[in-house]
Amino acid sequence: MRPNTCQVAVIGGGIAGLATAVGLLDKADQAGCDLRVTVFEADDTPGGNLRTLQHEGWQLEWGPNGFMDSEPATLRLVDRLGLGDRLLPSSDATRHRFLLVGGRMMEIPTSPKAFLKSKMMPASAKLRMAGELFIPGRSDLGKAAVDPSTDETVHDFGVRRLGREFAEIMLDPMVKGVFGGEAKELSLAAAFPRMVELERDHGGLFRAMIALARQRRGNKTDAGPSGNLTSFTGGMADLVEALARTIEKSDRAELRCNSPVETITREMDSWRVSGPDFNLGPFTAVVEAAPAHAAARHLAGISEKISTSLARIPFSPMAIVALGFDRSTVKHDLDGFGMLVPGREKSDLLGCLWTSSIFPGRAPESKVLLRAMLGGAGNPCIMDLDDESMVALTLSELRHLLGLKGLPNMVRVIRHQKAIAQYRPGHLALLREMDLEMERLPGLYLTGSSYCGIAVNACVKEAEKVSARVIEHLAELRSTTASEV
Ligand SMILES: Cc1cc2nc3c(=O)[nH]c(=O)nc-3n(C[C@H](O)[C@H](O)[C@H](O)COP(=O)(O)OP(=O)(O)OC[C@H]3O[C@@H](n4cnc5c(N)ncnc54)[C@H](O)[C@@H]3O)c2cc1C
Repeated sequence: MRPNTCQVAVIGGGIAGLATAVGLLDKADQAGCDLRVTVFEADDTPGGNLRTLQHEGWQLEWGPNGFMDSEPATLRLVDRLGLGDRLLPSSDATRHRFLLVGGRMMEIPTSPKAFLKSKMMPASAKLRMAGELFIPGRSDLGKAAVDPSTDETVHDFGVRRLGREFAEIMLDPMVKGVFGGEAKELSLAAAFPRMVELERDHGGLFRAMIALARQRRGNKTDAGPSGNLTSFTGGMADLVEALARTIEKSDRAELRCNSPVETITREMDSWRVSGPDFNLGPFTAVVEAAPAHAAARHLAGISEKISTSLARIPFSPMAIVALGFDRSTVKHDLDGFGMLVPGREKSDLLGCLWTSSIFPGRAPESKVLLRAMLGGAGNPCIMDLDDESMVALTLSELRHLLGLKGLPNMVRVIRHQKAIAQYRPGHLALLREMDLEMERLPGLYLTGSSYCGIAVNACVKEAEKVSARVIEHLAELRSTTASEV
């Protein structure tokens, strides 16, 4: 290695760490920066939550089912990795989504006319929702990072703008499905920043919808902000494998699996990274892409303030119960995305996705694959059940809803003790305080789903940003060194 090579350590080989490493290599090339990247991953395989299990024709996702095809950073990454021809859009069936309301599965209406006819909510609740048009926008929106007292929960936002029934029937299950979280415990500004933007920029949600629909009419190519759920033919593992291959093929990068980092230390202007059987450095920069609870331990000796803040970001637990059935033993047509369950239904299910309807081909011929989600921040005790009890509970909940006859012929329980970061009220202020503290620690960066978005797309977008910041930092160091010579 040449003496001027900048060494960068990336801690964590989940999507955030892997995408950062590839971003660093690409941006170093563009900037003519001599750089070497080492990715430290605790497990024996990279990917973190992104793992696809293949078993006798069944294809199961360990974590995410896919990503929305609306994030340019992810589409750029897919293109960069040459994965375009492996992209797999979800089927048309996903337009039909269901909620459990009063013990019955009801389809979520997608047009105002269908909504008016739907029995999902009483007339008074529909009337209250229509009143949203006349509720003025809050004047203190967008200030949660500097003034945490203005940080509203997702539930309070829903009640304020659209009424309690809407918040409990429609918003609560959506939060459970995305975060495995509780609408009453999550910050709207941190978890759903787009909602805050819409209210701030348009004065309300219906006003925003009208304005955006008008804009879209003027721009026929715009597919809308949310996009379509997409995966790869080999599942999300395709993305991990392509990232890992790119890193391993590079003579300027190394992916070290089975390398659990224990501490990061600072020596003069550089960093060292150590674990049970390694102590490596000096690194000019360290990107901490492991979850906040792990980063809190790594950084305890560097900054107590940062470490304490990181440890304050909780994670929801979640269990996935994957069930495979013969098509003939399921009465329901499963023509849809699946069902989510509002907390007031007093069910142990967060929801159930009809995986083989979303991505046909994930189950063997004439079989269907279901993916039930249990636990979440509101029901952590469910994780204490053994696998057999968890499957029995899931079957007892789904049997009458989907008309299940007989037993599944494939069962798999996947446990995530720390599944998804929970952005509680005060999250944005916490991030701001950490940013201020990190100004005195040049060369140290935090990225990943613990901070600015839990979705795969958010991790990839942040990875692009953080890799650019690291390269900028290295360029500044080079120019300072050159001017001193
Ligand atoms: C069940 C479930 C379903 C989901 N569904 C979706 C979905 O459909 N769409 C979507 O967009 N998102 C979804 N998500 C969210 C998304 O999967 C995650 O937010 C994303 O994968 C997080 O990536 P990450 O790299 O930040 O963290 P992780 O995937 O957690 O990766 C962190 C990595 O750091 C490693 N690590 C930890 N400690 C150390 C250490 N001490 N030293 C070295 N390495 C360490 C871990 O082993 C891991 O590989 C889902 C998440 C879960 C759990």
